[in-house]
Amino acid sequence: MTDRPYPPAFEPALRELLGPEGVRGAEQIALLDAGVASGNLGAGLFARPGTVPEVAATLQLAARHGVGVVPQGGRTGLAGAALAGPGELILSLDRLNRIESIDADSRVAVVQAGVSLEALDRAVAAYGLSAGIDLGARGSATVGGMVASNAGGIDAFRYGTMRERVLGLEAALPSGAVLDMLARVRKDNSGLALRQLFIGSEGTLGVVTRIAIQLVRALPPRHAALAITADATRAVRVMRAIENQPGLSLAAAEVMSGNHVALTAASLGIRLPVDVAAGNLATIFSVSATGPSAAPDLLSDALTAALEADLMIDCLCPKNAAEERDLWRIREDWAVDRQRPGGLWFDVSVPIGGLGSYLVAVQQRVRALDPALDVFVVGHLADGNLHVTVNSDVPLTTRYEEIAPLIYEGLKESGGSFSAEHGIGLEKRRSLEKWAGPVQIDLMRSIKAVFDPRGIMNPGKVLFVPT
Ligand SMILES: Cc1cc2nc3c(=O)[nH]c(=O)nc-3n(C[C@H](O)[C@H](O)[C@H](O)COP(=O)(O)OP(=O)(O)OC[C@H]3O[C@@H](n4cnc5c(N)ncnc54)[C@H](O)[C@@H]3O)c2cc1C
Repeated sequence: MTDRPYPPAFEPALRELLGPEGVRGAEQIALLDAGVASGNLGAGLFARPGTVPEVAATLQLAARHGVGVVPQGGRTGLAGAALAGPGELILSLDRLNRIESIDADSRVAVVQAGVSLEALDRAVAAYGLSAGIDLGARGSATVGGMVASNAGGIDAFRYGTMRERVLGLEAALPSGAVLDMLARVRKDNSGLALRQLFIGSEGTLGVVTRIAIQLVRALPPRHAALAITADATRAVRVMRAIENQPGLSLAAAEVMSGNHVALTAASLGIRLPVDVAAGNLATIFSVSATGPSAAPDLLSDALTAALEADLMIDCLCPKNAAEERDLWRIREDWAVDRQRPGGLWFDVSVPIGGLGSYLVAVQQRVRALDPALDVFVVGHLADGNLHVTVNSDVPLTTRYEEIAPLIYEGLKESGGSFSAEHGIGLEKRRSLEKWAGPVQIDLMRSIKAVFDPRGIMNPGKVLFVPT
């Protein structure tokens, strides 16, 4: 695992730069939690700079010695972008974990990159504010990692992805320079928006060290219900009906295929008091009230009307907080990965009006290829963002090239995307090449070369390095 040697002078220089707190060797790395992929900890050295100048000096040192650097936050990324191999240096932001300021009047927080989303949300909740972004990995995902992967999540349809949440940022480069682009205002037309290049760059340009994030007013308490529909077209219409209900504000619309609900509920030991057939969709609609009427009553009114209009097969309005929590546990768990490992994951987005026909076509194409394949879906309905897993009793890892085109067919023509919110990492590099075409890929390579001329930043991620 750690057998590729580092240049002889590198480790002593790193230890001198960062001190005993700042460097971990193989034995200590083995004790860490690798996060979503064991390969995240495949490197033999782990740097933990404690200040921004130390981050910049670490990058400069690595560049001088030609050592590849893999920045890491919470290691929750789902595209293999934080995988680290022998001879590489993991650069963890775990010591840059301070919330530097919360300006409640401006609704802006300035945080160091290693602050977790949960820590930020807890801190700003004291001011009646929220980060305006939420995802299942909230306890571990860091703001820096979320910037680097342009995370989306549950709230994106209201407040945008990280690209819209970030007002400004600071980043360290392999040259040792620190770019101060830490604006705290929305209107900032000061030349080319270099900060935007770091959002979604997956650690390939430099290390994001500090972020100014636009906060939003925290919503009043939310209430959820589960709507069961025959297809995505109807689920979207139920969602629009809820949005049109006076006195209600839609907070989340999380869709799941019936087979995901059945398998995950069974795995978690949850008995839902409603039937969800494998071929149907179940959507959690979460709402808050904007006026004096109670949100659960208004939601129930909207769902009753949807039932009468034949948009919905059935629904479940939880009787208490525990029942509501169970719905979210089913949404945020992914039992199929445990029970049938080796499935293929896709993360697509589709213009919302086309979700119904897209899902039907995907099911048909996959079944026509091989009736033994199953399609599981969860997603953020209001963004048209679906996480599709193709699964079978046996691992499918060798069948990616055969199956991926079935998921991507027609997406570009319809205005969708093959890569919605998890990023490219290692997994989707080939697909990116096909999707973007040679002109865009050449431009991306040129931009990377400007920031990272020696190619040390997260080598091989997002873009293949030409040999
Ligand atoms: C249960 C679960 C639910 C999830 N739900 C969602 C969801 O709804 N929406 C969504 O978008 N994602 C989701 N994710 C994916 C993941 O949480 C996000 O991609 C998150 O943004 C990753 O943050 P991280 O700190 O864990 O980054 P890491 O996994 O550590 O790193 C991700 C990438 O960012 C780079 N990086 C990390 N920190 C920095 C930095 N400071 N500077 C430069 N580069 C850096 C890494 O090199 C890597 O390329 C989910 C993951 C899990 C496990």
